[in-house]
Amino acid sequence: MQFRDLKAQYRALQSDMDAAILRICENADFISGEQVRQLEEDLASYVGVQHCITCANGTDALTLALMAWDIKEGDAVFVPDFTFFASGETVAYEGATPVFCDVCPDTFNMDPQSLRKTIEAVLDEGKIRPRAIITVDLFGLPADYREIQKIADEYGLKVLEDGAQGFGGNINGRKACSFGDISTTSFFPAKPVGCYGDGGAIFTNDDDAAALIRSLAVHGKGSFKYDNIRIGLNSRLDTIQAAVLLVKLRAFKNYELTSINDAAMRYTDMFGDSVTTPVVPEGYGSSWAQYTLRLKNQSQRDGLQAHLKERGIPSMIYYPKPMHAQGAFSGTRSAQAETPVTEKLCSTVLSLPLHPYITPEEQQQVVFAVTEYINK
Ligand SMILES: *Cc1c(COP(=O)(O)O)cnc(C)c1O
Repeated sequence: MQFRDLKAQYRALQSDMDAAILRICENADFISGEQVRQLEEDLASYVGVQHCITCANGTDALTLALMAWDIKEGDAVFVPDFTFFASGETVAYEGATPVFCDVCPDTFNMDPQSLRKTIEAVLDEGKIRPRAIITVDLFGLPADYREIQKIADEYGLKVLEDGAQGFGGNINGRKACSFGDISTTSFFPAKPVGCYGDGGAIFTNDDDAAALIRSLAVHGKGSFKYDNIRIGLNSRLDTIQAAVLLVKLRAFKNYELTSINDAAMRYTDMFGDSVTTPVVPEGYGSSWAQYTLRLKNQSQRDGLQAHLKERGIPSMIYYPKPMHAQGAFSGTRSAQAETPVTEKLCSTVLSLPLHPYITPEEQQQVVFAVTEYINK
């Protein structure tokens, strides 16, 4: 059994995919081909924003957003403690300080109360200046933007939505990657929409930010390619990845997002009350980047993972360590955080195999193995 079956997906899309990739090889327009422009148009229209700028990966997408806002040394950026490293790494890379807040135990997303407390603590210390909040749509579920936007407005902070896992989710029909002043996503192969290598995108309704990011992503270019007016990056999505993503986005819109939601609901129905299953609040839609159980304690979680492995069922721990406890932050302001919920989640979560091509029989096997262990 595969954790996320990219081979099954390729088999389903093979004829369109092979033709799309071959076309780029024949045209040899490997960088900035027509498919890149087409993909940006399709992504912007799907998400419902004015501008989409594709780039090399989801980490660069975050970096480009922070660069556009001139986030730098002396600035504080608030980041959930329970996320993938890049959400905080990019802040530190710009010389600013990631300050970690706790998450909600049921949704795994940034806890607005903890955010407010953390902002107040930074203001009290008076050493660094609050500038922005990076929200993460963890495991495919959008963060609590109603509450977080209120706090951002109150303190005059920008919101950067890290939608690397969130693409395809929604709140009352409004799509993920439209909630930030700038939003980003990743097309890493295992994300809700993945390419055949690395890729990323930035979304915004801000015309000036979009123009600046287009320049920053291509060596700070000015009016033409060899006119460089600022220091930037080389961060482009190549044409083959764009062609792959056009095929994948079509499948995602046509049936994959529905299939994965059906499969997630099937897990939740099958598990019943036997174990703590993921929560999707009223009005929210998830793109199910992960289906994550919460176990009683670390020994039950680790025991369950070993039990599944014996039965040939892959599972993953996202994430085993709070951000603030990562060695890269040791000895910095970022290492200080009071995040009991994150600490608990790191020792009790387990993500199960889930993708649009999983069969009910495979899910039955997973549920049987999980409940067999829990009830033993
Ligand atoms: C995957 C991921 C990223 C980074 O994306 P890459 O394309 O791998 O650089 C950033 N943030 C979160 C939450 C992610 O899951």
